[in-house]
Amino acid sequence: MTVLTHARITPPLAYYDELLPHQQDVFTTCLEHADEAHDADGFNRAMDIAARALGIALPTSGAIVKCACQYCGDCNAIFDTASPGLRRAEPSGPYNLPRYQCTACTDGHPTPHEA
Ligand SMILES: [Zn+2]
Ligand SMILES: [Zn+2]
Repeated sequence: MTVLTHARITPPLAYYDELLPHQQDVFTTCLEHADEAHDADGFNRAMDIAARALGIALPTSGAIVKCACQYCGDCNAIFDTASPGLRRAEPSGPYNLPRYQCTACTDGHPTPHEA
């Protein structure tokens, strides 16, 4: 029996740069709407449409985000905010959505501050 000693990397749900242009548009717009939503309904609706744009079901966490890594700048991983081993890329700002590094970025070049 193999014992995993390393944190298991959860593969991203999708990669932004592999989406079709209209999927990118919907996804980006929905994330902006979710960020600016004033209530849970608006947030959930935006997240639901964002997930559908990717052709996936919204994870039970109810939130998907694009990697906010400040080192790569353009990491394209899109993932569930409930994935294990995520690291905050920024302290929380005036947003609804948390800014996280994806698991690959967290593994490769973690943000130095502990959130
Ligand atoms: Zn990343
Ligand atoms: Zn990165």
